[in-house]
Amino acid sequence: MSLHASNSPAPSHVIGDAKGATQRMLLMGNQACAWAALAAGVRVVAGYPGTPSSEVVDTIAQLHRQGIAQGVHVEWSDNEKAALEVLAGASLAGARCLFTCKQMGLNVASDALMSLNYVGIKGGLVLYVADDPGPISSQTEQDTRRYASFAKVPVLDPASPEQLADMVTQAFDVSEKYGAPVIVRPTTRVCHATTFFDVPQQTHAKDPSGFERNSKWVIFPKRAYEAHAEVNERLVHISDELGESGNPIQNVASDASVSAPKLGIVFGGVSSAYACEALRILRQKAQAARRLLPPYKTMQVASPFPFPKKKAAQFLSGLSDVIVFEELDHVIEDSLLQVVGSQHLKANIHGKLDHTTQERGENSTDDCLARLAKFLGVEGLVESASAPKDAAPSAGPTAQANLESQADLKPPMRPPVLCAGCPHRGSFYAVKKALGRRTPAVWCGDIGCYTLGNAKPLDAVDTCLCMGGGITMAQGFATADPQKKALAFVGDSTFFASGMTGIANAVYNQHDITVFVLDNSTTAMTGGQPHPGTGQTLMGPKSAPIQIARVLRALGVRCITQANPLYLSQSVQAAKIALDFDGPSAVIFKAPCAQYVKREPACVVDPQRCIGCRVCITTIGCPAISMRADGTCVQIDANQCTGCGLCTDVCPHQALSTACRERGVIPFKDERSIDTASDPRVFVEDGEVR
Ligand code: SF4
Ligand code: SF4
Repeated sequence: MSLHASNSPAPSHVIGDAKGATQRMLLMGNQACAWAALAAGVRVVAGYPGTPSSEVVDTIAQLHRQGIAQGVHVEWSDNEKAALEVLAGASLAGARCLFTCKQMGLNVASDALMSLNYVGIKGGLVLYVADDPGPISSQTEQDTRRYASFAKVPVLDPASPEQLADMVTQAFDVSEKYGAPVIVRPTTRVCHATTFFDVPQQTHAKDPSGFERNSKWVIFPKRAYEAHAEVNERLVHISDELGESGNPIQNVASDASVSAPKLGIVFGGVSSAYACEALRILRQKAQAARRLLPPYKTMQVASPFPFPKKKAAQFLSGLSDVIVFEELDHVIEDSLLQVVGSQHLKANIHGKLDHTTQERGENSTDDCLARLAKFLGVEGLVESASAPKDAAPSAGPTAQANLESQADLKPPMRPPVLCAGCPHRGSFYAVKKALGRRTPAVWCGDIGCYTLGNAKPLDAVDTCLCMGGGITMAQGFATADPQKKALAFVGDSTFFASGMTGIANAVYNQHDITVFVLDNSTTAMTGGQPHPGTGQTLMGPKSAPIQIARVLRALGVRCITQANPLYLSQSVQAAKIALDFDGPSAVIFKAPCAQYVKREPACVVDPQRCIGCRVCITTIGCPAISMRADGTCVQIDANQCTGCGLCTDVCPHQALSTACRERGVIPFKDERSIDTASDPRVFVEDGEVR
């Protein structure tokens, strides 16, 4: 039984024990995953932030703080590999475990995953890996379903937040039953879609049974050979179990007198929702037009690996043509082709491979509607759908022109830019000033907000590869193109995630690079998560922050400078010292993220001094500064301006001022920022700090 709130606007989906007291909540898919894992008794949760997956760990941490999630341990690990290895240990101790990351995070964790699947697990281990078709916030459109088949790990592919919650529960059970990790792979729209759920008022982690020694936990080559057979065998059983229970087939016959369907429609993930909605619209249109759709069958592939071959063969039997809707790779399509070939079936499979459906990016209801109308031979229904607007008797030339002009009204493109008051702006500009116009350089960027330094006028990112990759790429440039200065920019969270090994390599091999650590004391791009440099943990107690300067020193970097990037002169000075150093050097630009500080009063323009030269706009490009309509002077958008004061250092005519600069105080000074305005700290060779 579930509690039904009287003001609830929608029927809800129950998470957890339906017999206990529940409360109704509007949850996004990621939050539903968190609740489902807690209701399943998850004991240890670890991950690394990455859109679109981050809210899972954030939600569990919040519920733990509120005392709702009892007995759970939750952490942001310093990278995905570390997170999965923490969970591998906890699982072997019998704890139910949840791992979260975005699709590319699985690349980092893959070293552990590939072996762990052979070693096996004890407590249920679910990997929540969110894919990003589009992509909306990623460097690639890689498909986690491919990773699942590569690693021979089962994967579930939800179409909605409700299915997602059910699949997380199911994944824990399957994982424990077969001793294997299980992946749940939602895509962005499922992660971020919201619906109502009835959730338990409190959750309790299951007590782990404890670790027991077993030779199978040690993966020697001989054991790996045996384990491979076990992996293959369990996949057959999982295919049968999931294939039967989780891949629904539906027959849709419009006219009972016609023979069995010859057409099949297969979908997976969120495309299932788009295709079903498109079919509902088509049926409505057919009814309105007094036409019949040809009979067809549908199948949702909810467990793409191991592929439900028997269920698929049953579905394909007797069909002549099948269309497949899925996002990212042609995973289902490939598997259907295999079934057709191995079973000598007659069905023609259409999808990404023959360009019947979109080969990349996101699907949509509109796109599915057009393609399904064509596939079912009723294109006219879709064309006539737009006809009423065009053919409406009341739509004269003016009305028609209005309709057309409205259709042309697309929102203007707004490329992403660094926020007003973002300290990264000062960091990039200071390095430019330190280099001067004549020194050629390669600017290696990395993953984080600072990638936005590539936008004009800063124009300060030449490359961006992967987490921490800028530091090691710079070493390649220093080797192959030594005439140019090799610069690497890395954020504080990325530094801990995967920057340190690259720095060790630079020191070891004495690559002449300068690393700029843009330390804003948070993982800003994914929503402000803590990391080892902040000392804040999700479990409450604060540990001692790991000092980046000390890490650099311990790794053997012999020239380290620090500056507050909102102060131009000290930042230029810090950059010059490091750039002039022969060998690996580093600059720590430290000031807190503009999103997490109390704002200072906005910048003020003195119209008597401002001559409209635009230097403040064309150098740092703060979005809070724009020209007045008459072109005589700049103006400040007080809603955006944080009062950081950087622009006051840029204006050659002293036309800009901020309250904090007037008072001689450091903007946003809090425990996370360093007082470097009057005390630039430099460490060079002999260990002296001066
Ligand atoms: S003080 Fe200047 S640089 Fe800082 S946010 Fe305001 S306008 Fe932008
Ligand atoms: S504020 Fe200064 S830099 Fe900006 S346009 Fe006016 S005079 Fe030029």
